Amino acid sequence: MISFDEYLKKFNKLVQKYIPPRNEWTPPDDAVYGVKDIFRVPEKEAKELRLKAIKFQFKRHYEKNSFYRRLCKERKISPDDIKREEDFKKIPLIPDKFFKNYPSGRDFAIWLSNIITGDIPEIEIPNKNPSYDEVVESFNSAGMAVAYSSGTSGRFTFIPRDERTFKIAQYAAAKSIVINVYPLWDYNIYGYLLMPNPFKTNVFAGKICGIYFDLIKEVEVAIDRRISTKTVSRAMSGGRLRRYLLRHAIGVLGKRVVKNIIKWLDSHSREKDSKMALVGTPALMHSVLIKLKEEGKNFDLFNRVGIITGGGWKVQEDKRIPVSNFRRLAEEVLGINPMHCLDVYGMVEGNGFMVHCPEGHYLHVPYTFFYPMVLDENLEPKGFGERGRFAFLDGTTFSYPGFIITGDNVKLLERCPACDRPGPVLEPEVKRMGGEEVRGCAEEVRRMLSI
Ligand SMILES: [Zn+2]
Repeated sequence: MISFDEYLKKFNKLVQKYIPPRNEWTPPDDAVYGVKDIFRVPEKEAKELRLKAIKFQFKRHYEKNSFYRRLCKERKISPDDIKREEDFKKIPLIPDKFFKNYPSGRDFAIWLSNIITGDIPEIEIPNKNPSYDEVVESFNSAGMAVAYSSGTSGRFTFIPRDERTFKIAQYAAAKSIVINVYPLWDYNIYGYLLMPNPFKTNVFAGKICGIYFDLIKEVEVAIDRRISTKTVSRAMSGGRLRRYLLRHAIGVLGKRVVKNIIKWLDSHSREKDSKMALVGTPALMHSVLIKLKEEGKNFDLFNRVGIITGGGWKVQEDKRIPVSNFRRLAEEVLGINPMHCLDVYGMVEGNGFMVHCPEGHYLHVPYTFFYPMVLDENLEPKGFGERGRFAFLDGTTFSYPGFIITGDNVKLLERCPACDRPGPVLEPEVKRMGGEEVRGCAEEVRRMLSI
């Protein structure tokens, strides 16, 4: 078996273009690129890295972002007030709803520019009354990586990442996953992406998977057409008749996608010693497993297949399945080693991806740069071991303040009950807070394919 160091070396070789030159590293880069196994950094060292990264970004956003500075001044907080971890609770947080409250047309471009910390790119907007996609594209042709996610209300969450911040998101997500499936990943593994093509969409969960193509030689994509904000909002809302017609049309598409994935599994499983990796939304993966079960097909792919899910666990209209049931089904149908069936919890607003540990399937927090919190009804931090609203300080977002209050309900634990990794974890069942709309990239894909 390949040693962990050798395994990591192979990974690092393939992701060089995501890492800035060493002489340009800042504390956030040290916290992301400077550590070996991001989930096994000794606690003291991790906390030092995180303190430096968060202090660095807080000062930057305070100095270079006028909207955030106003918020800080209202709360009477300045960079001098943040000296140690105990001061983190003073850092003003931005509710995720803020990023949904945007105007349209040219005003949307101004709104986006106002969120950006630091240099705003020179953009050219061709139309008088541009669509959201046109505005996003104009920022992205100027070197940004603006991406979005949406909720059932039809409102999007737009986040303006610059190239550097987006590369950190991609690198952090990929590395956290590759590390936790050790030693399964290999460049010659066959890959399937159960998401929109990363190069044809600005949907965050799709776009971020661009790095998958650098890590794996051959990747098949489930949804290869161009996905715009119009496609997404049509799938997420709309009148009943339109919805019915769309459902009908894309229901067929969903069936075809499931069929293609099964064909792919079938053919590669016959090759001796071949390995496969499926990355994507739980709903689509679940449909594949259900279909296989219905057809009475079984595979014996122990240590030969990995399944990485992400984006939320609503698998059918009004139906949510527990992550553990999904894993059992994958074991039954594919013969997967459950250590290689991992879920990822992340969101468009941050670069921190919580990834299951193979031993216990708890969601490990990348604690060298990401500070997780659980808030009570008054938005005050609660201690470990309690359930509440998830919030975080992300020390890696250069182009916008990544100090966010989410609409998710989580339980945060100081240590993993199942493994010896030193950092904090979230319990595997992440839910929406009461009264919050269902959102997440998995929900978009599910509705697009109507599965
Ligand atoms: Zn664990």
